[in-house]
Amino acid sequence: MFQDITTLLLDPKAFKDTIDLFVERYRDQNISVVAGVEARGFIFGPPIALAIGAKFVPMRKPKKLPGPVISEEYSLEYGTDKIEMHVGVVQAGERALIIDDLIATGGTLSAAIRLLERVEVQVVECACVIELPELKGRERLGDKALFVLVNGS
Ligand code: IMP
Repeated sequence: MFQDITTLLLDPKAFKDTIDLFVERYRDQNISVVAGVEARGFIFGPPIALAIGAKFVPMRKPKKLPGPVISEEYSLEYGTDKIEMHVGVVQAGERALIIDDLIATGGTLSAAIRLLERVEVQVVECACVIELPELKGRERLGDKALFVLVNGS
């Protein structure tokens, strides 16, 4: 069953409350990078980034970003996929939050973590609105902390 966050966006109070929960958690953590995973990380990431005074960095599907990129592959049930980030948009030593709407198997977020760690950015935490715990995505993130608002099982 597909978990759909678009109904949340139709309710301005619920959407704002959702953003505020993340902002509250991350505002005093010296985070300078909010990295949002395509596509629905682009909905939640920018308002959080603006509120905590961080830059927003899109992590995109292959061949979408116009400039030079670094990329990370991850495995799917059948085959592989990739996410990409522009070169030079983050600096070594910066502190980042990675945001997406949902964690299922954890493949996407684990690739996002590797992408940032390759350029020596410290990933403070990954955050999602929904977790599907039965898929054990959390385990794929290793020792990286994951914060979620809703159990989607
Ligand atoms: P994972 O890599 O298996 O953790 O899958 C997470 C990625 O797939 C995220 O970018 C999600 O947006 C997307 N995704 C997987 N399942 C769903 C779902 O049920 N609803 C919304 N997005 C999903």
